[in-house]
Amino acid sequence: MTTETKRIVVVGTNFAGYTAALELREMLGDIHEISVISPTHKFVFYPSLIWFPFGIRDEKDITFDVRPIYESHDIRFIEKRVTHFDLDNRAIHIEQADPIGYDYLVIATGFAVDYDYVPGLREHAHSIIGIKQATRTREAWQRFLQNPGPAVVASVQGTGCFGAAYEFLFNMRYQLAKHHLREKSPLTYITAEPYPAHFGIGGFGNAKKMCETLFKFYHIDGRFNVSVKEFCPDGVMLATGEKIPSAFTVAIPRFIGSECVRNTPGLGNAMGFIEVGNDYRHPKYPEVYVIGAAVDVKPPERTEVPCGVPKTGYPSEQMAKIAAKNIVADIKNLPNRYEQSFAEMNALCIMDTGNMGMMIVGDHMFAPREHQFIIPGPEAHWAKVAFEKYFMYTRKHAIV
Ligand SMILES: Cc1cc2nc3c(=O)[nH]c(=O)nc-3n(C[C@H](O)[C@H](O)[C@H](O)COP(=O)(O)OP(=O)(O)OC[C@H]3O[C@@H](n4cnc5c(N)ncnc54)[C@H](O)[C@@H]3O)c2cc1C
Repeated sequence: MTTETKRIVVVGTNFAGYTAALELREMLGDIHEISVISPTHKFVFYPSLIWFPFGIRDEKDITFDVRPIYESHDIRFIEKRVTHFDLDNRAIHIEQADPIGYDYLVIATGFAVDYDYVPGLREHAHSIIGIKQATRTREAWQRFLQNPGPAVVASVQGTGCFGAAYEFLFNMRYQLAKHHLREKSPLTYITAEPYPAHFGIGGFGNAKKMCETLFKFYHIDGRFNVSVKEFCPDGVMLATGEKIPSAFTVAIPRFIGSECVRNTPGLGNAMGFIEVGNDYRHPKYPEVYVIGAAVDVKPPERTEVPCGVPKTGYPSEQMAKIAAKNIVADIKNLPNRYEQSFAEMNALCIMDTGNMGMMIVGDHMFAPREHQFIIPGPEAHWAKVAFEKYFMYTRKHAIV
């Protein structure tokens, strides 16, 4: 190692961490050491988990192994869990291994799920947040088909992942119709959002109207602006005292930061998310960058029931690219800094409904926007399928 060689360590290897590591290698050449630490070598394409419980996707379709890609890019991969950071001494503490030092640290540890903040959530609601959870939900779905009844999808107070909840709800409607079970299975959507298609971003164009039309057309009952008091074996108790009967409940709970962030005093806020500037650099530790779902993003407006912000894949990758450029500028002593707030990033999303959907395209995540379009129709479903194939192919071939 020459004296100029810098050690850059990326923690996390999904949308944000994977993009950052490859961007850094491409921009820095091979003089500098790049390492990635993650407890798993699997990249998981979360957007397709909405199809997993229905058996439309398997693990092999929506994951790939990052190790050969890192190897071919001379990026060291350490398959271990980080327990905490010692930021003053620039050390990363890892389970069953010696601490690792760094000159630049990129934290891309995403989100963890808070299963314990609503009684009964862990025991009486199913989840699609992760392959393991979605596999259990698939088994429960098979049982439900044998013994159908009312069903509930809940975007629980504090969550920010509303798009996935709507997609799962509409896909479930589609699957129930295919099994001729719609009459036996009334569907209810429960959400913290003040109105349909608020999405935690204060709404988007005419999405509210479109969503209302879909709810009416598909006979889905909606409960908006509500908190869940308790998930029960036979239904969902709302804070209003109303109990919605359910034989199959899927919940999208709130997210918190990764344990390694929560175990590091002074790094993140009470929820374990990390506040950074628009250059994605930590305000106190200039050699630390934070990207993706690990970043704290404040909601654009206050809602009566707390709603989080959807920190989706596209902005996660954008943050990674911005942070990588800034690290390169730091190392090469370049004057330029790159900045873009989450609110200013493009809003690009496809909401699938089983055989149809909506393509959501806007110039900004948060209003005001100059351009915002929603393109509904069957082409949106096929666009989501095509995007999944495009994404898996390009990322497997290190095109980020
Ligand atoms: C069901 C579902 C559907 C979704 N649908 C969409 C969609 O349609 N479109 C969209 O754009 N977004 C969607 N999202 C959001 C998208 O998945 C996130 O934006 C994205 O995963 C954020 O990427 P990330 O890399 O920041 O974090 P993550 O994907 O959470 O990755 C975190 C990484 O950090 C690692 N890590 C965590 N803790 C540690 C530790 N202690 N030590 C070392 N490594 C650690 C993990 O192993 C992982 O590699 C969806 C999310 C879910 C859950």
